[in-house]
Order: sequence, then structure tokens, then C-alpha cells
Amino acid sequence: MEYQAKELFAKHDVPVTLGVVAETPEEAAAGASSLGGAVVVKAQVKAGGRGKAGGVKLAKDSDEARQHAEAILGMQIKGLTVNRVLIAPAATIEEEYYFSFLLDRSNRTYLCIASIAGGVEIEEVAKTDPDAVKQIPIDAGTGVDEAKAREIVDTAGFPAVLTDQAVDLVQKLWNVFVQEDATLVEVNPLARLEGDVLEALDGKVSLDDNAEFRHEDHLTYEDKAAADPLEAKAKAKGLNYVKLDGEVGIIGNGAGLVMSTLDVVAYAGERYSGVKPANFLDIGGGASAQVMADGLDVILGDEQVRSVFVNVFGGITSCDAVASGIVGALELLGDEASKPLVVRLDGNNVEEGRRILSEANHPLVTLAETMDGAADRAAELAVK
Ligand code: GDP
Ligand code: MN
Repeated sequence: MEYQAKELFAKHDVPVTLGVVAETPEEAAAGASSLGGAVVVKAQVKAGGRGKAGGVKLAKDSDEARQHAEAILGMQIKGLTVNRVLIAPAATIEEEYYFSFLLDRSNRTYLCIASIAGGVEIEEVAKTDPDAVKQIPIDAGTGVDEAKAREIVDTAGFPAVLTDQAVDLVQKLWNVFVQEDATLVEVNPLARLEGDVLEALDGKVSLDDNAEFRHEDHLTYEDKAAADPLEAKAKAKGLNYVKLDGEVGIIGNGAGLVMSTLDVVAYAGERYSGVKPANFLDIGGGASAQVMADGLDVILGDEQVRSVFVNVFGGITSCDAVASGIVGALELLGDEASKPLVVRLDGNNVEEGRRILSEANHPLVTLAETMDGAADRAAELAVK
């Protein structure tokens, strides 16, 4: 969120005004009086286009700030509920610029996008006047030193009076990007204020959660209220889970196998009134009974799920261990396991795995020989 991005910016000396975060109209009014004078009331959600959606409003005093906060709190912007507003001194903007650093996956490099035609509609500018939006690739090995920052500022065409400030600010934003392990740092507007002062008036940062282990402070930025409850539960159990919108629960080991399982289920589902995969869940290498139980528990907690497809390729963890895991998981879950399971096992020690499942003879479990056959059966069972 903007206020969090601004906290990160401040940590790296990027010029920002932090303001006050409020969760009620009263807090907003108090924040406005503590700042004094005119303020801006800004919806805090992880989405752009807040201004256009009516989530950014100027207020001349604390009374008006209270009224705007009342209107903005609880508002929906792009499907997200506004639970907080940021109250900041109303800046006098003379010009708005756009600036970002991001990961350019297709070119395997970092990229700076900058435009002096910034403001709310940068996507529109990119379409109607692409030359006004400059793209400057950045070598990951050398990064952004002063010379590179100067090249960026010259290419973007910042006014001469702002050049030195811009060169400094660009390097500081690069520090945010690298030192915080971000995949995106975006400022729109980067504003030229009264008196030719450059300031980041908005901020958007995407943090790479693969680097979470070296940024304990990043954990506080997570928006628990907005997270899907099943995804939150899965995360708490250390599972690699993504909720999708279908009816067939999926459990597999290895991201590649799970991805192809989603494909075959979606394909089979076309024959059964369009049923679809309900989730992605990779239980990884060590499929113990506990991990299997945790996975099943999350999937069965999804009300949309009507059947579950367990697709496991025995490698280092052999099929018999996985089969015992499934049997153990069903015991652990007891009555909570209430939906049919189609299990397909292959690979290391598959005969023993199948024997364990046949012997357990659990009423909910169907053993399938092939991946396509299992997908077909799971899709069929998911039809109401
Ligand atoms: P976004 O629409 O979600 O990107 O939200 P922004 O923070 O970028 O705000 C949208 C627009 O509101 C900006 O482009 C500015 O024109 C305006 N705005 C934001 N903060 C201020 C402020 O402090 N003073 C003034 N006058 N306008 C502001
Ligand atoms: Mn913006």
C-alpha cells in the first residue's frame, strides 16, 4: 500500500511526506488537525486508479477530512475494501511525472520506465504517445550509479532545474529496489511541487517474497484482512497453495506435475459441464501423512470442491510412503474427509503403494491407472 511504500522510501531517503494513517473518520479528522491546513485523504488499497475511483480527495480542514474519510472508508476499489486512509498535507503540484524500476522478464534484465507526461493515465499515454514513455534497460551487474541515473534523467527529459534532484532521487529509488529485494518500485506521480521541489506523492512496491527470510520487517506489510482465508491457512501450514475457481481439488508433488494436472483436469472437465480445477497445491518432495492431511484439510475446507484428484509421482519419496500418507491423512481427518478422492500413483515402488491403498479399501478413494483416466473420473465425480 502507498503508506507502506512511502515508509520504505523514507528509509532510503527518497523525498516523501509520510502523513497519518487512519481507520476511522475520527482518526482522519484528528490526523488532519495534527497536520494543520489542507490535506489529501487517500484510500489505502493494493490497487492503482484510486484517484479515478474517487478514493483520493482534497480537504480544506479536519471537518472536510472527516467527511471524505467517511465516504472513502468501506468503499470498494477494484474489488478491494478500503479499511484505511492516508492523510497527508495537500501538496501544490505543478507537474506530474511517472517513474518506475521493474524486472523485465522477457529481456532478462531490469528496466526503468520514465515519463515526464505522468499523472493518473500513464497507461493511456503509453498507448496514444508511446514516445513520451521512455524505457531504459539496466544491467543487473552494474545497476544504477550516478552516471546511469544521469542517463535516465536525460533520456526522460526532466526539466533542467530538477536534474540534480532527479539524479539523486533515481539512485535512492534504485537503493529501494535492490536493498529491499523488490520486483517493482513505481512512483506516479513523482511530482514537481511549488518551488521546484521533487517529491514522491504516490508509491507502489512489489516485494519478492523469495527474499522474505532476509527482511523480517516486510512481514508487517502483509494485508491479512485481504488474504483469502484458505490461502492464509495453507500459508500458515507452509503449503504451496493457490485457490482457483473450480470444483476439482488438486494435490500433486512437484510444480510441473501439478501444472499439467490442472491442464488435464480442465480438459477432461469440458466433457462434464465445464468443471474446473479448484486449486493448485504442490506438496513437494516429502509427502508425509501430516503434509497430505494438511493439504487435504485445506482443499476439503473449500466449499466449491466436489472431488479431489491426488496425482503423485514417486521419486525420492516412494509411492508406498505416499499411499501410507493418504491412508494416515484420512484417519487423521476422520469425518471431515467427506468428498471422493481419485488417486493416481506412479514411479518408485508403485505396486506396493497401490497394494496399501487397495488394502485400506477406504470408501471415498478410487484408484486410477493413468493420469487422463484419473482426471476424467475426478471431473465426472465433480458434476453435481
Ligand atoms: P492513484 O490514482 O491510485 O495512482 O493515486 P495517486 O496517489 O497517484 O493520486 C491520484 C492523483 O491525485 C494524483 O495524480 C494527483 O493528481 C492527485 N493528488 C494526490 N495527492 C495529492 C496532493 O497532495 N495534492 C494535490 N493537489 N493532488 C494530489
Ligand atoms: Mn498514482
